[in-house]
Amino acid sequence: MGLSAAEQELYDQTRVRCREQFAGLAAGAPEGRINRAVVSALGRTGTIARLFPARIGGVHDTEVSAIDLCILREALARESTEVETALAMQGLGSYPILQSGRPAVVERWMPGVCRGEVIPAFAMSEPDAGSDAAAMNLAAERVPGGFRLTGTKTWISNAPDADVYTVFARTTPGAGARGVTAFCVDGASAGLGGAPLEMISAHPIGRLDFDAVFVPDECVLGEVDAGFRVAMRTLDLFRPSVGAFAVGMAQAALDLAVEHAGTRQAFGGPLRDLQAVAHAVADMAVLTQAARLMVHEAARVYDASAAAGSITPAVTMASSMAKLFATETAQRVVDAAVQLHGARGLQRGHPLEALYRDVRAPRIYEGASEVQRTIIARGLFR
Ligand SMILES: Cc1cc2nc3c(=O)[nH]c(=O)nc-3n(C[C@H](O)[C@H](O)[C@H](O)COP(=O)(O)OP(=O)(O)OC[C@H]3O[C@@H](n4cnc5c(N)ncnc54)[C@H](O)[C@@H]3O)c2cc1C
Repeated sequence: MGLSAAEQELYDQTRVRCREQFAGLAAGAPEGRINRAVVSALGRTGTIARLFPARIGGVHDTEVSAIDLCILREALARESTEVETALAMQGLGSYPILQSGRPAVVERWMPGVCRGEVIPAFAMSEPDAGSDAAAMNLAAERVPGGFRLTGTKTWISNAPDADVYTVFARTTPGAGARGVTAFCVDGASAGLGGAPLEMISAHPIGRLDFDAVFVPDECVLGEVDAGFRVAMRTLDLFRPSVGAFAVGMAQAALDLAVEHAGTRQAFGGPLRDLQAVAHAVADMAVLTQAARLMVHEAARVYDASAAAGSITPAVTMASSMAKLFATETAQRVVDAAVQLHGARGLQRGHPLEALYRDVRAPRIYEGASEVQRTIIARGLFR
């Protein structure tokens, strides 16, 4: 199923807005650090509000709209991956607070996130616990009135400059996934430090060091020792949208390939007259559309399930399949577009340079492709 007329309008409007209002703010900004001008513009124009419910300043009667999230992410990624990442992180970093925070905590942070004034981050990965997240050991020690967090998180998007962090920490040693609690941590907390990390893409990311950071009881998200559920609910929602990000990049690469194959002259005519080239472009289009449909399907399954009040195993399955197929597809499509461009596609500053650098990470984060296959297989053999 494709998009409704209203959904298509949202997609088209978002692309135009990105081109005219956001992309210029991203261009030339320092790579790898939060771009507050972009986030603020996303807030001012009501773009972030499309991710959230009316109760905190968003537009929806429901708590979330996975399909809107995917439409926005694809549309922005087609124009600017930096802008796309800024929007995605407003959602990923704050969704656990919205979903599981006490009312006062939600009220303190979420309206600012929605307006693009507060930058959130989602802190799960550690140096010794990536795919095997249940092995995390950042310690949350019980003290009067709350907890003290000690340890290190790494590869955290928007760290170390975010205003608020969702942090997953170990409250019960030796209990694996059952001994993890989610916390909402003020970025200005005493004892919280960190450093930026440089990636091959322009992604803002860093390490966080916790030195006995005090977090009051009311900042526990959900229940003590039930933080893994908070994380998994968040990932069920965001994995299809990582797929949407990938589809946007694939579509951008396809657009460039069609344009180039139609204009580049070789062997007495445009490249597209070579059947091998025309067929390669056709395959890119088919793969991109198949990925898009899987992403939309997963988003609609999520929305229907959330409306019915429970996230079913079918949601997890659709979400993993969409993320796996779309991110692997985008890698192939971007690579094929570079091939069709010849040397130009590898020149610094060419739009394909950014796509080539950006397309790699989504196959690793929010569950590497191998982890998605494990989740899918577990569902099949259940
Ligand atoms: C750009 C970027 C942004 C990120 N943002 C965040 C963020 O905001 N918050 C956060 O918490 N983390 C974030 N991460 C971290 C990311 O979630 C981890 O990198 C990811 O979970 C993989 O962990 P790892 O890098 O430690 O790799 P490892 O866990 O060491 O895995 C390495 C490789 O081993 C293979 N492998 C692992 N497990 C299995 C398995 N079960 N079966 C088969 N093969 C397997 C896979 O090929 C995998 O890529 C980000 C990473 C990147 C690159």
